[in-house]
Order: sequence, then C-alpha cells, then structure tokens
Amino acid sequence: MNSFKYCYGPVGSWRLGVSLGIDPVSQPEKICTFDCTYCQLGTRAAQAARRQVYVSPADLGAELDLIKAPADYLTFSGRGEPTMASNLPELLLECGHRRPEKTAIITNASMMYSEKVREELASFDFVLAKLDAPDSGLFGSINRPGPGVYFEEVLRGLILFSKGRRGRLAIQTMVLAANKDQAKGLARLYADIGPDEVQLNTPLRPCAERPLPREELEAVAAAVSAELSRLGAGAIRIINVYGEKAPEVEPVSAPDTLLRRGKTRGGKEGGK
Ligand code: SF4
Repeated sequence: MNSFKYCYGPVGSWRLGVSLGIDPVSQPEKICTFDCTYCQLGTRAAQAARRQVYVSPADLGAELDLIKAPADYLTFSGRGEPTMASNLPELLLECGHRRPEKTAIITNASMMYSEKVREELASFDFVLAKLDAPDSGLFGSINRPGPGVYFEEVLRGLILFSKGRRGRLAIQTMVLAANKDQAKGLARLYADIGPDEVQLNTPLRPCAERPLPREELEAVAAAVSAELSRLGAGAIRIINVYGEKAPEVEPVSAPDTLLRRGKTRGGKEGGK
C-alpha cells in the first residue's frame, strides 16, 4: 500500500458509490473556514475565507498516474475545505487529463458567495454542499465559522449556485441533537435552494458529537419530506445515511492516509 499525499481511497461512499478522494489542500493541520462541532479532523480555530495554492497540478498528476483502481467519482474533499485551494480549475483539469471518471466536490459552501468560486464549482459533475442550520444562531454554534463568513451570504451563494448549476447538486446536512428539531426550517431553505437531492447524515464515526439513532434520523427525513411536499418541492430526493448502502472497496492508499482525512481503516467514507 502507498502513503499517497494528495489522493486517498478508494472508499465506499453511501452518497457517491466508489469514490477516489483528492485532497487539494493536503496540509498536516485542517484548513477550513468552519470548525464544526462534529468535525472528524479535530478542533482548530476556523480560518478566514482566504484562498491559496497548496498542491501543484503536476504533483497531483504524478500521484494519479500511480493509481489504477477504478472509481465512480474522483471526489475533492480531504483535510478541510477544498475551495480554500485557489487552483481548483487547474487541479480539476489535471484529473480530466488522467482519469475518465466523473468528478464530485464536498464543500461547506462558505465561499459560494463568490461568483468565481461558484463558476469553478459548476465545472464539477456533482457538488455536495453543506447546510446544517436554518438560521445564523445555529449556524454559529454548529459550524463555528471563521471571520467574515456569514450565514446569509452562504445561503445566498447556495441559491445562486443552484440557479446556474450545470451538474447535480446535493445539500448535505449533519443532523445532531442541536438541529434535529429544525426539519421545517431546513426544509424551507432546501425548497428555496432547489437541489436535486438532500442528504441527511449523522456523525457515525468518532468525533465530539453523538449520532442520532436510525429511528430519529428517519423521523427527521419524514418531517423534511412532508414540509417539502407542502411547499410544492416534493420532487427533491431525500436520502439518509442509514438508508443507503456503501459498496465494499479495498483502498489502495495506506490506512494512515485514510485516517488523516477522517476516514475509517476499512476505507468507508466518514461523516464529514
Ligand atoms: S466538518 Fe468539514 S466543514 Fe466542518 S470543520 Fe470539518 S472539514 Fe470543515
């Protein structure tokens, strides 16, 4: 097995099938505009929304050349927020030159206020964007954003992105004790955004938060579904982590490569 620096997996993902992870930040410490209470990468003060180059396309390409395992998606995620990398388009291009798979990105949506970032995200086949809170109070206490990151701008960015999207959009929500009673408020925002899919997760992997049991998460899913139907947005698909099966996959990257990114030793996708 190889200790790859920029790639990890493939992992079996309940949302993406077989997913080969690409980390466009790849730093020892997490680099993120949030410090979510459930983050599997540990606690670190959230950073301001400032982008820079972390990984060169040539270095990523050289590593991709060593990986022969097929995947359903090349998924940009990793140790932090992938849109913090200012050379996302170049890294995406490098993937397209080397691999035939579709591309996905798991983002916390904090930089979607930027037209440039929205345009870059629109080049991915599938965007999975985080929304955990229906208001700025809960946004502050669950996601603990860095300086200059505001709930209203995140929401506006999500709505604008959804309107102009070229690929698929999923809104991913981590359901915890703090937001499990917010189904109606969240559903109203899902209806405003209009994604293809809503993914309800709960932190099943080791972290500072306790997961909701299956019945509670399914009750949240049912409440969201009822509210979406009432609002005339019943076409939005709702899935939850207990209801989907992740494929069994043998990772080619070494176990420590997965663990550093909050994935489990068996290669399964974690709860980011
Ligand atoms: S869970 Fe994701 S968005 Fe939240 S702090 Fe961790 S890396 Fe950032």
